[in-house]
Amino acid sequence: MDFLKSAFELLSAGPICDTCLGRRFARLGESLSNSERGRALRVLWAMSRGTTAEEPERCWVCNGAFREAERYAARALELVEGYEFETFLFGVHLSPYHEAVEIFLKERFPSPWAEPFQRDMNRALGRAFEELLAREGGAARVDFRYPHVRFTVDLWKGDVEVYVAPAYFYGRYRKLVRGIPQTHWPCRECGGKGCPRCNYTGKMYPTSVEELILPAFLEACGGEGGHLHGAGREDVDARMLGRGRPFVVEVERPRKRKVDLEAIAERINREAAGRVEVLDLRPAPPDLVRKVKDLKARKRYRALVEISEPVDEERFREALKRLLGEIRQRTPTRVRHRRADLVRVRRVHEVSGKLLSPTKAEVEILCDGGLYVKELISGDSGGTRPSLSELLGTEARVVELDVLEVLDDL
Ligand SMILES: [Zn+2]
Ligand SMILES: [Zn+2]
Repeated sequence: MDFLKSAFELLSAGPICDTCLGRRFARLGESLSNSERGRALRVLWAMSRGTTAEEPERCWVCNGAFREAERYAARALELVEGYEFETFLFGVHLSPYHEAVEIFLKERFPSPWAEPFQRDMNRALGRAFEELLAREGGAARVDFRYPHVRFTVDLWKGDVEVYVAPAYFYGRYRKLVRGIPQTHWPCRECGGKGCPRCNYTGKMYPTSVEELILPAFLEACGGEGGHLHGAGREDVDARMLGRGRPFVVEVERPRKRKVDLEAIAERINREAAGRVEVLDLRPAPPDLVRKVKDLKARKRYRALVEISEPVDEERFREALKRLLGEIRQRTPTRVRHRRADLVRVRRVHEVSGKLLSPTKAEVEILCDGGLYVKELISGDSGGTRPSLSELLGTEARVVELDVLEVLDDL
């Protein structure tokens, strides 16, 4: 195919700007911009016809969209005033007019060298934005995957919208007291509206790990909301000790992303006053949320167990030994209302313990993530087999539970 012939046909069809002309031949000539390509073709066309090589004011292909790139970029910059960002991305919604023109061009002026309108426009917007930013002494780079701010230019409405991506932070929490849920738990009676049962707080518990951790992040980032995503959760009445449990904090629409994490940790630990502690805070990539939520780490537990009939040392030892290995566990009765009812196979990898009295014992267990330890002890009416109750031949139940360690490699 003769590209010059194609270019001349396109030039004869109506007023077209350099960029739109050059874009139809984008794969020809390295390190040229589409506008340079278009200019070169126009010059050749003018020379062959003995006419002027001036770029027309109007363009039937983009309808002036490329001339507007700078205005859109300026609008975009206005929208993120006061927001800290290092990366950005532009996207374009074509108008029905531009879509129709793209189809028309493909049919009437086919070119194996053409580049899509949108890609060219995105690039023009990005470049205009970078230049504008540089003029103000700022800098940011394009990120296709996780841009801090994402602009959508709507060529139909002539408008720009911005999406400010959340900021993410990794950390680990220790919960040093019992009776604190991981996240805000609405009152069961009133569903959060406030009633006598919840003392008009709308909550089942006065605070939560999330409520103790999140505010410091929101304030430091100037965020508008947020979440704490935990790698699983311990029971409300269980402590979380050792190196703590991994979590990711998500801050929505943050104004600041570079924050003093040491100061945040210091503030959380001071205000939580021995109830909760955070450690290992660091900035996190967005996909860590999924990783943390899907984490199936082994855990080490310590349980204080009450036994209904006195047992001797030998019977206790024997029972513990037989608790090792595969456990078949049906979804516990207490969580069956919110979890799928099925039987899971999990392993107990290590178990040890001592009798504190004939009816009281301390047991330490290392097991797969997802094994319910309270039911491993009680048996949950045969839902968990084997269980300590079954092996002892008498009922045993957990009266105190601590997670000693979450064994992950995050
Ligand atoms: Zn154009
Ligand atoms: Zn209530």
